[in-house]
Amino acid sequence: MSEKGKLIVISGPSGAGKSTVVRQAMQGRNDICFSTSVTTRQPRPGEVDGKDYFFITDEKFREMVEQDALLEHAEYVAHSYGTPRAFVKQQMDAGMNVILDIEVQGARQVREKMPGAVMIFIIPPDLETLRRRLIGRGTDSAETIEARLVRARQEYAEADFYDYIIVNDDLDQAAAEFAAIIQAEHCRYEERSHWLKKI
Ligand code: 5GP
Repeated sequence: MSEKGKLIVISGPSGAGKSTVVRQAMQGRNDICFSTSVTTRQPRPGEVDGKDYFFITDEKFREMVEQDALLEHAEYVAHSYGTPRAFVKQQMDAGMNVILDIEVQGARQVREKMPGAVMIFIIPPDLETLRRRLIGRGTDSAETIEARLVRARQEYAEADFYDYIIVNDDLDQAAAEFAAIIQAEHCRYEERSHWLKKI
């Protein structure tokens, strides 16, 4: 019997290296994909519409909320973000593990709606490292960086409903931990109990 895909939520401050950790853990496997969110913020240099995000207007965002086309949605530092529901369902039904890289308010909505989701909080070793990474990225103003650091502190205080924490100090170690979590989640009793009925 083939197993259904898992919904895997990763959160943590932007600059924590979440997507780098996951991309490294994904190397050589074809059972994990990222969901592409919609957002009302402007693309950063190098970001591609339809790949990094679907960049949409406030009006289109409101429309999607009204049509219940988003699995979850939230405001983050003055912009709206949301996860299109249809893609996630389609991929999970096809056996893919789907990654949502979303902030804490949206993650809480997923926790309530999809109890089987695996929730992982990924953080840098300290907030000074985060500040340096955000400055080094060179895509946000000093003001936006400060707003993101304030938000990071709030998120830490609200993160008590996650299942796992990964501290991204060493990338190889963090990616190995991520892969181990996915592996273990697929070995859970409720995932494997059908084997016990075979005798
Ligand atoms: P950024 O603007 O740096 O790309 O993302 C800002 C924050 O929004 C990050 O914490 C990211 O995880 C979160 N985010 C991205 N897409 C979504 C989404 O679809 N829903 C929610 N709730 N948060 C999102």
